[in-house]
Amino acid sequence: MPVNYKSIWMLILISVWVSACGQQAVTKVNNKIVTEAAMDTTEIKKSDDEWRSLLSPVQFNILREKGTERPYTGEYDNFFNEGIYYCAACGSELFTSGTKYNSGCGWPAFYEPSVNKNILEKKDISHGMVRIEVMCARCGGHLGHVFNDGPKPTGLRYCINSGSLRFEPGKSKE
Ligand SMILES: [Zn+2]
Repeated sequence: MPVNYKSIWMLILISVWVSACGQQAVTKVNNKIVTEAAMDTTEIKKSDDEWRSLLSPVQFNILREKGTERPYTGEYDNFFNEGIYYCAACGSELFTSGTKYNSGCGWPAFYEPSVNKNILEKKDISHGMVRIEVMCARCGGHLGHVFNDGPKPTGLRYCINSGSLRFEPGKSKE
């Protein structure tokens, strides 16, 4: 039945064309998702139980309960590989290796954030001290504190818990 053969060929051609377009669209959508995820600063709100299921006990203590890791014990304290540091809770970009320096204080230290708006700073009067707390702007996770005894060019020392960070090797922007 020649008519049916013709229909079948038309169907095959259409399905090849559709799947080719579909493939392209998926790639585009994926690219967009990647780009949006890197740029997305939408505030993230989760319950303690949700965070607990996503984070390790150490990460939960630091990020959600404002805990502090013991000095000289954090995985990124004495660590100077080239790459980017993201929030361990929400993946927001926070610091780059180009601004990391050895402060000798026992915690990872940076002289400036990677993206200023990704960091929140708030006065903290706990433990009988007046300090400036540093938090992730996107998820509100506690990162550490910022002091004004850092090196040039900013004079700032962002003293950050390793447990609040996730490092990815790569080319640093600085
Ligand atoms: Zn975060």
